[in-house]
Amino acid sequence: MKTILEIQKLDRQIKLLNREVEKCPASVDFKKYKQILQEGRTRFEQLESQANEIIKSYNNAANKYNKLKGNSEIIRKRNTKDIDLDSVNSLITDANSLVGELSEENRRVEDLVRKSEEIVRKSAELSNKLTEAKRRSGSIKAKIEEKKQEVAPKIAEIEKKIKELEPKVQDKEKYAKYKEMKQKGIFPVYVYIEDVFCGGCKVELSLNFIEKLKTKKMLTCEHCGRIIMLDK
Ligand SMILES: [Zn+2]
Repeated sequence: MKTILEIQKLDRQIKLLNREVEKCPASVDFKKYKQILQEGRTRFEQLESQANEIIKSYNNAANKYNKLKGNSEIIRKRNTKDIDLDSVNSLITDANSLVGELSEENRRVEDLVRKSEEIVRKSAELSNKLTEAKRRSGSIKAKIEEKKQEVAPKIAEIEKKIKELEPKVQDKEKYAKYKEMKQKGIFPVYVYIEDVFCGGCKVELSLNFIEKLKTKKMLTCEHCGRIIMLDK
């Protein structure tokens, strides 16, 4: 068990070194830029669907325009020579409503044009931002790589030590368990009881559990799955 715990200690050092890379400013920046790119992509999709909506509305407006133009042709072609007063009134009413509908349609189209311009402007802004983010992410990546190169020899050295220790492990079963759990992301695997708490997840252990632990010396935490040991 002593050897396994030594290996665990070395593995912890490796984890700390890897975390150093993860937490370095460049890595934090990189995550930020990846987020910007992701958000930009989503925003572009939104703009695209808005633009499609506008095109649809524009086509509707154009159809309506054509229909109204047809109506005006009909009014124009009416025979106005022998027209009576009632017909003149209805002609004026028709003409007025046509003017009203046309100007309303005109407003709608103008509104669509404004919206389209807004989308074009926003797309351009977004495009600039994304280009900038992409450009900077390149140099950030290089910095992260530099940091990785910096810790790589240290990690290699620790890994070498682990390789040297592995043949000395007596309890192969416990070591296999260790490797399996580490693989699953549970780390550390073997922890000590701390007062009445699990040394891993800090959950309070039942008296019953502690009693059992006293006889078995080693038990799996029901909460986090780590293996709790009794004594240091
Ligand atoms: Zn636990």
